[in-house]
This record gives sequence, structure tokens and C-alpha cells, in this order.
Amino acid sequence: MDNCIFCKIVKGEIPSKKVFENENVFAFQDLYPQAKIHLLFIHKNHSSHINQMSETPQAIAEVFQAISQYTQEMGLDRDGFRVVTNLGPNAGQTVFHTHFHVLGGEKLGHFGS
Ligand code: AMP
Ligand code: ZN
Repeated sequence: MDNCIFCKIVKGEIPSKKVFENENVFAFQDLYPQAKIHLLFIHKNHSSHINQMSETPQAIAEVFQAISQYTQEMGLDRDGFRVVTNLGPNAGQTVFHTHFHVLGGEKLGHFGS
């Protein structure tokens, strides 16, 4: 996708603070962290949101395997973390390349409306 900022981040055309990369998955620090640790995990293949990504379940598995690997390597799983994905205006989606927020590093509040 030509005009997608997260595709540009994967290609290195926009700078990011990368924390993880493998053949299919890229992860970087969120620009406006909402927790002590706030990362974004994305698949390198563009999709707009989780429902479009669900057309290729393998891609979802690859992202979650990366989250699992990274959080275990960093010991984030010890105290716990949260994974969030937003779809559409009610959820406040602002970037239309499917991404999974990984939040942790501290006790998180409850969420909702
Ligand atoms: P969402 O609201 O779920 O679409 O999440 C988009 C997230 O992307 C927000 O948490 C933003 O802070 C984050 N974000 C937007 N642009 C960048 C960027 N260039 N680098 C890192 N994070 C970004
Ligand atoms: Zn994209």
C-alpha cells in the first residue's frame, strides 16, 4: 500500500523505534505511549483491520507467535500484558494497517467506554 504509514515504517521510509522483526512481522514503539511499555505489532503484508486480516489466518498466527516469542524473551509475560486491536470509528482506529497494541510494564487500568 503506497500511502500507508505502517507499510512505510516496515520499508524504513519512516523512522521507528524497532523492537522486533522477523520474515513476516515487525514491531516498534508507539509514538504516544499509553503505558510504560506500548508496542505495535504488525504483519508486513498490508491489511486494513483485523477482519480483513482474518482472510489470511496464517498472518494472524504469525503476529501472535511473534508477540508470544517477544514477550517471553523480554519477561513481559511474568507480570502480564494486554493485546488490543481497534477496528473502525467506535474503537478509535486511526491507522488503517492492522496493528496489535501490546501494553504492559505496569499495572493497567480497566478499559471500556
Ligand atoms: P489505533 O488508534 O488503534 O489506530 O492506533 C494507532 C497507533 O499508532 C496510535 O497509538 C499512535 O500513537 C500510533 N502511531 C501513529 N503514527 C505512528 C508512528 N509514526 N510511529 C509509531 N506509532 C505511531
Ligand atoms: Zn500498510
